[in-house]
Amino acid sequence: MIHEPLAPRLIQVMENLRESIRTAGRQPEDVVLMAVTKTHPYETVMEAYHAGIRLFGENRVQEIIAKFPPPEERPHDMQLHLIGHLQSNKVKKIVPLVDGIDSVDSVRLASLISDTAAALGRVMPILLEFNTSGEDAKSGFETESQLYDAIDAISKLPGVSIQGLMTIGPLNGNQADVESAFTRLAELRTRCMSRYPSTSFSTLSMGMSSDYALAVSAGSTCVRLGTVLFGRRD
Ligand SMILES: *Cc1c(COP(=O)(O)O)cnc(C)c1O
Repeated sequence: MIHEPLAPRLIQVMENLRESIRTAGRQPEDVVLMAVTKTHPYETVMEAYHAGIRLFGENRVQEIIAKFPPPEERPHDMQLHLIGHLQSNKVKKIVPLVDGIDSVDSVRLASLISDTAAALGRVMPILLEFNTSGEDAKSGFETESQLYDAIDAISKLPGVSIQGLMTIGPLNGNQADVESAFTRLAELRTRCMSRYPSTSFSTLSMGMSSDYALAVSAGSTCVRLGTVLFGRRD
């Protein structure tokens, strides 16, 4: 296979992202680009790193273990987050290998992460995943009151630190559905901020290759991009 250089594509995507941010009347520094490198080798991760990306997302624990060197052998300013569903039996393995877990969807999971991180003398930054699409196959808290109950419990745990909310928009391609899902999460975050003034909700992680412009316009602070950067996955 001919290897296409990443840099020109990355520059194009960054330009498009910047244009979406400007159109939304927001500032470039308000939105972070996370490169989602699942299915791509570590060489691709490093190519993106050298092109200026610092935040990386992977959705499977096994793949992180197989692909990434241990944290002390990665560039010191590389940030790796788990963005996919985490099973409780994999918590002990993943906590030492990542800088954040963006897909926390239960109090029990947060509590296991907290215990593991605390035993290592760490506090793990986490995002709470909310299911904005109502699709059963998706993870995430389902209702506002469920989310508040979880925040009440999770904010007391010593080994995790809530940083905000994350969602995967509906994948049905209907723009109105996608917009309303993102708007819903943005409004939920605003309510969380006033309800929990001592908890950080600085991150609103939403938007993928097909819908990041809509997410930016709804207030996303972190877009998670795979396909537009690295091409289609097999
Ligand atoms: C794969 C993945 C992405 C990136 O999806 P693309 O459509 O390839 O940009 C973003 N978020 C999560 C949780 C993912 O699993």
